[in-house]
Amino acid sequence: MKGIRWSIGDGKSVRFCWDRWLHGAEPLIHTAIGVVPEEQLNWTLDQFTTETVQWNWNVFMHLVPATVLMKVAAIMPSRVDTGPDVPYWGFSEDGRFTTRSAYRSLTLDEDISNRGLWKVIWHWSGPQRIRQFMWLAVKGALLTNWQRWHRHLADSPVCVLCGGVAESTLHALHDCPKASCMWTRIVPSENVLVFFNLPLEKWIWKNLTNAIGINREQWEVLFGVTIWQVWSQRNAFTFSNEQCNASRMLKNMERHVNSISATLWGARSIGGVGMGRENVWIRWTAPPVDWIKGLHLAWEMGFRRVLMEIDSQCAVKLVSSNAEAVGIHRNLLKAIKELLNRSWEVRVSHEYREANFVADYLATFAASGPGGLVHLADPLSGAIPWINMTF
Ligand SMILES: [Zn+2]
Repeated sequence: MKGIRWSIGDGKSVRFCWDRWLHGAEPLIHTAIGVVPEEQLNWTLDQFTTETVQWNWNVFMHLVPATVLMKVAAIMPSRVDTGPDVPYWGFSEDGRFTTRSAYRSLTLDEDISNRGLWKVIWHWSGPQRIRQFMWLAVKGALLTNWQRWHRHLADSPVCVLCGGVAESTLHALHDCPKASCMWTRIVPSENVLVFFNLPLEKWIWKNLTNAIGINREQWEVLFGVTIWQVWSQRNAFTFSNEQCNASRMLKNMERHVNSISATLWGARSIGGVGMGRENVWIRWTAPPVDWIKGLHLAWEMGFRRVLMEIDSQCAVKLVSSNAEAVGIHRNLLKAIKELLNRSWEVRVSHEYREANFVADYLATFAASGPGGLVHLADPLSGAIPWINMTF
């Protein structure tokens, strides 16, 4: 059933190829780039895990595109002691089934055709060029690499930013890691499931008619501006080789949203920065697997009083809460809590990454680096000015 997602426990019930257990992804069989051996087709997750609770990459990494492998890497493999796998409902914010969310998911098609997606786009309260852009996106008329390849204007359909898969419209606007890293800054974790699970038309519809981002009062404006920025940055890179810079994009978006709100609401522009009642603009969800590597490292290096700053408020709540977590990172949270319970003092707090210049520099460095865990014995030369400034 389409709305069912899986929270991984012992991995004995979830089928690796057929079930929806990855963040925002279709069943893996739909994205396979090689032929899955017949005997593995119905294997469950635990059969793709080694005894040391690692993914058994050798078995499947040649069958799955790089972007999907990154999603697998962000999930902790099955653990026997977590208990059975648990299904949850992917169309509601908290994973619980409600008739309203089921009804909404079933009637979304009807809404789109009845009320007309074009009407929603045409009533959007921002600049005309962004309206036109959204309409072209819905009609599949954006010149993505896939389109250009199809028209013999490019040598390959593959996304030049991540090199992972064909650059479809949806890939360019939200699936590509270069795009999704922007969205995870401005979509609260509790809505990420819904946000990354919709096909193109429904995705645009949902965001223009429901406040699912951080800035509830003006989400539809922020959404339109962001989608436009993501596309402009992509073109700047493809045609002028201009590097993508998330901080610059955030600044541009803020300026854009401010000027639109000033035009629309004049003096009512909220808080002067248009960021809604929570006044939260900068939000970042780090790949959670990295926390556990950091905690392990701190433990192994003998630190026994540690401050752990996380730049997602939702993550702080999850780590600090005693309740058993549901969702795709259930195993990871269990492992983090086990580590925290060792005989050491770890204080968990929330801090915007941008407020910690050294962390921000390292995160930007990591995003442009080769990936994987890198131990730095000495500070990077580029980080030294920030270290001097901070201490
Ligand atoms: Zn890409």
